[in-house]
Amino acid sequence: MATNSKKPSQIYPASSTSVPPFMPNQIIDPSIRGESFDQLIQNRGIRFIHKRAAPCPNMEKLTDNSHNPLCAICNGNGFLYYCEKEIWGIFVSNSLEKNFEQQGMWEIGTAVVTFPALYPDGTVAEFNTYDQLEIDDFPVRLWELKEYDPSENGGVTRMRYPVDTIDVVTSAQNNVRVDFVEGTDFTVNVDGNLAWIAGREPSYDAPNEKGEVLSIVYHANPRYNVLQQMRELRITQQLIDGQKTAIRLPQQILVKRDFLFNPPNSES
Ligand SMILES: [Zn+2]
Repeated sequence: MATNSKKPSQIYPASSTSVPPFMPNQIIDPSIRGESFDQLIQNRGIRFIHKRAAPCPNMEKLTDNSHNPLCAICNGNGFLYYCEKEIWGIFVSNSLEKNFEQQGMWEIGTAVVTFPALYPDGTVAEFNTYDQLEIDDFPVRLWELKEYDPSENGGVTRMRYPVDTIDVVTSAQNNVRVDFVEGTDFTVNVDGNLAWIAGREPSYDAPNEKGEVLSIVYHANPRYNVLQQMRELRITQQLIDGQKTAIRLPQQILVKRDFLFNPPNSES
């Protein structure tokens, strides 16, 4: 047996530069405080209206996908909304992608939004695919080309999104630009549609079914559809009254600008 590892025979002096022990006597709770994260979002976020989505049951059979495209329950988009609640959230990233089409310009980029775990009323805020989020405080400017048709929607010109304010409504009559004036030629009704004042409507060629083409620039509240949650469930354990308790953490949601809100049958 090797005998060359002897106990030290000398007591070494304590150094005057000793540092405190690396481990504290009591290990502090390292968990994230869910409430403070929620409060941060609440204090820095913008107001969204969250509408929960459910698939529309207006079909004859499940097996043949026979949903009525002119369905009035869901406006033809296949999902109906229930349970509207306010919630404050923060845009984390916003893509700059835009999509142009002949009849308008739609920003259809995706964005990531962070929401607290709870609604302001204390109930759990959950998000799922096809839920809708609307920003009611910051309208955006959109444009559309419409052909006037007095037979559609009772003569009311319906835009894809309910109109908040009208910027300009203009048409070309014999190669001359003619503007329609709000209050004189039309009003914006409670549903956010253009209601024409009798005798001031754009022209309509009934035999050829051709209406005057209108360029309409307006402001409307942006709507987003929830694509997915970035993480299925975010849970941490937190000390509450000395007990480790599992609590929800704020959540990240991937959203996409909605660009087909009105029913297809309302488009002229
Ligand atoms: Zn439906």
